[in-house]
Amino acid sequence: MFGQWFRIPLWQRVIGALLLGIVVGVIWGPGAESIKWIGDFFIKSIKMLVVPLIFFSIVAGVAAIGDLRKLGSVGWRALLLFVVTGQLAVWLGLGLGTFFAPGAGVDTSAIDRGPTPQPAETSAVDMVLSIIPESPVQVMADAQVLPLIVFALLIGIGIVMAKEDGHPAARIFDSGAVVMQKVTMIVMELTPFGVFALMAWVAGTLGQDALVALAKLVALNYVGCFLIIGVVYISMIRFLAKLPIADFFRGMVDAIAVAYSTASSNATLPVTLRCTQRNLGVSRSTSSFVVSLGATINMDGTAMYLGLATLFGAQIFGVDLSFADYVLISVLATLGSVGAAGIPGAGLIMMALVFGAVGVPLETIAFVAGVDRIMDMMRTATNVTGDATVTTAVAVMTNEIDRGEMVSDDDV
Ligand code: ASP
Repeated sequence: MFGQWFRIPLWQRVIGALLLGIVVGVIWGPGAESIKWIGDFFIKSIKMLVVPLIFFSIVAGVAAIGDLRKLGSVGWRALLLFVVTGQLAVWLGLGLGTFFAPGAGVDTSAIDRGPTPQPAETSAVDMVLSIIPESPVQVMADAQVLPLIVFALLIGIGIVMAKEDGHPAARIFDSGAVVMQKVTMIVMELTPFGVFALMAWVAGTLGQDALVALAKLVALNYVGCFLIIGVVYISMIRFLAKLPIADFFRGMVDAIAVAYSTASSNATLPVTLRCTQRNLGVSRSTSSFVVSLGATINMDGTAMYLGLATLFGAQIFGVDLSFADYVLISVLATLGSVGAAGIPGAGLIMMALVFGAVGVPLETIAFVAGVDRIMDMMRTATNVTGDATVTTAVAVMTNEIDRGEMVSDDDV
């Protein structure tokens, strides 16, 4: 019985739970609220992972580079492309969310909004200061993601600077990152139950308009991801990497398929590395550095989604957002996508960061959690395609690509 359950791939169990949850919710009606705690249990378990996961994976990622000069020359180009594509992605999400207003017209009176986070009344200087951790322990205890990322980056750089003396520390963080990924896998086993309960709750207490709104959100998530790949990445492959589009996608198809089915950039990392090196001809050192870094910090699908989802939350709960809020969302969504670990559901966790800053109720997370997996799969496929696009572009700019190395279809 148990064996059979685990033999079904997780994503199939999740989709099954989602459909069953909707059916149960529709039949059960408002009484389905009584099982919402199972969904809350799931969300709480995910939140538990945020701090250790980000901390270990960022320190391990920076430490793995091992050489400050290399970090510099390839790093600034990669970072520039990561930031530019991330910004394009968030504004695309904000544009889609504003134009199609997927959350408009939902009656949310049945939802207990919980405490509404107060919009932060902070100046630009305060914001800059707030990313420097006053006490790293405090930052971890309060799950403040941005100062945590800064701290993790510094520790990583320190490890690189310490050379041999830093190796034991590097190994500890590396092993910690692997352990945290395993813990995440355990928590992910709760997904079908959490998704079932959340969908039953949403379908039972909110009725059809909520389901239609969620369907619109899912559709817009896919449209946004397709636009990022079809417009932004294809232009970069064509004009920066100067590679035939068909060759690029033929070389990357394995990684994209693994990304879509696992919803994890980290789990896809070995395949992305193999595809960029073997099929696209990128040098080993450049691909290991940029692809590994990208798997953690370059998540354009996630950035787009964070922008879209924040507007969705604001629309369903009637929160007015100013243009200044949009700018704040664009910065935080980019940083949130940087801070998100390459694991299933990471984008969902990062919503709290953006929502808190612009006063969107955190209940939105419970509301969308049930359908997150379907969106996560497409976000991850986009994230991984983006990592390979930037890697190839940087490799061409730094002369680290050997087109002769590209293997033909038959060898792939
Ligand atoms: N699952 C995504 C990834 O691994 C992150 C996300 O949840 O958006 O790339």
